[in-house]
Amino acid sequence: MRLTLMLFLLLSTITVAQNNYPQDYFRSPLDIPLILSGTFAELRSNHFHSGLDIKTQQRIGLNVYASAGGFVSRIKVSHFGYGKALYITHPNGYTTVYAHLNKFSPDIEAYVKKHQYEKESFEIELFPSTDELKIEKGQIVALSGNTGGSGGPHLHYEIRDKTERPINPMLFGMDIKDSINPLISSIYAYPMDEHSFINQSNSKTKLRLIPIQNGDYVVENIEAIGNIGFGIETIDRQNWAANKNGVYNIQTFVNGSKNFELDFSRFSFSETKHLNRLIDYEHYKTQKSRVQKLFNQNNPLSLYKDVLNDGVLSIKDSTHSVYKIKVGDFKKNNTWATINIKGNKTNRGEALPKKTTPYFINANETTNLKKGKVSVDLYKDTFYENFYLDFDVKNDTLLLHEDIIPTKKSFKISYDVSAYSDKDKSKLYIAKLIGYKKFPAYSSTKKIGDILTTYSKNLGEFALATDTISPTITPINFKKGQWLSNFRFLKIKIDDELSGISNYRATVNGIWILMEYDYKTKTLTHDFNDGMITETKNNLKLIVTDNVGNNSTFETVFYRK
Ligand SMILES: [Zn+2]
Repeated sequence: MRLTLMLFLLLSTITVAQNNYPQDYFRSPLDIPLILSGTFAELRSNHFHSGLDIKTQQRIGLNVYASAGGFVSRIKVSHFGYGKALYITHPNGYTTVYAHLNKFSPDIEAYVKKHQYEKESFEIELFPSTDELKIEKGQIVALSGNTGGSGGPHLHYEIRDKTERPINPMLFGMDIKDSINPLISSIYAYPMDEHSFINQSNSKTKLRLIPIQNGDYVVENIEAIGNIGFGIETIDRQNWAANKNGVYNIQTFVNGSKNFELDFSRFSFSETKHLNRLIDYEHYKTQKSRVQKLFNQNNPLSLYKDVLNDGVLSIKDSTHSVYKIKVGDFKKNNTWATINIKGNKTNRGEALPKKTTPYFINANETTNLKKGKVSVDLYKDTFYENFYLDFDVKNDTLLLHEDIIPTKKSFKISYDVSAYSDKDKSKLYIAKLIGYKKFPAYSSTKKIGDILTTYSKNLGEFALATDTISPTITPINFKKGQWLSNFRFLKIKIDDELSGISNYRATVNGIWILMEYDYKTKTLTHDFNDGMITETKNNLKLIVTDNVGNNSTFETVFYRK
């Protein structure tokens, strides 16, 4: 009996120590030591990072290997986002994803080009059947790159489960050297309501961090009363790189008992937007840094674990509480911060009067606003909580609060443009006014009759803008009438100042040719190895259209033999 119990305890310890994910099933996608420029679930703009960003020694063109056998289940080529991306589904049900690729391996590249020429489009999404592109473990499937929304050469690598949930690849045994403790760069205390105070203040208060020798921190003692919560700015570094990456786990303790945990091991794409509710969104928008709130205000995120009283502390008079924050990375390097809190009812100060406007938003109801030629539809469940919205329309400018409140989904903005002449109407678009200079950034605009509509996830200022300027087209590596016999590539720069480029189409002697578009360098590139150009004299025609429909046509002749 006793032996059985001991055996049971021993076995359960082993199961707890490991995890449920297969170990050693997936090999590394690269044959260099793995150094990360981004960790799983780290905080990005409007989303959690869904994979590992593996540094590729500042180079493109490194061999990318299939982590395990299986078949190519999806290929996506897009101007933005993942750029060129490959998805391999494995017999155990997991899918590995390789993104920002420079090129696919020859057989996959041929498969993709065939479909691009059929569809006459560089952007493409393909779902090959199970027997079309079979893959062996360790097979070279691509060369690493910097395509799409990538800010430097690296491989974005993901592991997803059967339901497309991304999981931290390190849980599958990917080895990344990390002996460095996470860093805490700031701590804030938040009064949760108008009856709660921290050091006599009813506003968010930055606390002084005092580093101690072992890498941990103590925080200045505070006096408080009522319901309070905390937020931190924290990053982790791995060995051999200066990159500021995300942490793996955050826990908090009140007088020795755990009251809150954030676990960054897995999430779903459908919940990734709730990052904006996890962080102090207003702080992020105004100070450009991300404070993670260690309390949960009606956020459905699945990353929260063991949360007591929403992570909020209820501080009573004449009490003493010790609040501890533990930040950990995947390799269990931990950093602690300790805050002593004295409960003191004489700590109450003056609460700032709440700002009100005539536009109270009930988050559970749809609100329709209209003034002049502008209407706004804020749907039910767009916001996490009720608030007073700023709303005004002056001429063509819509003031819709400030972009300091996170949203769960898009809302609709409509402009009636019937007062404009037909000629002017065709050049109008709805713009989000960005930054100090209020640049009129194009917001995807639909026109039905005299009504322009756009959808936005961000509050702020909007306006009607006009784009009458056609895109520019400039050849980069050749001139009109030139012989290009020894050339591998044809390169042309395209640009559009205001509404931006919507599409382009290139033909040679009337036949469509594939030109790959890199928005970062504004470059279109044709590879002569595609074998499309067989004549000696070639008439190249390129049409580029912007988002309101202005277009430019570039025509030239070049020779090849
Ligand atoms: Zn990435």
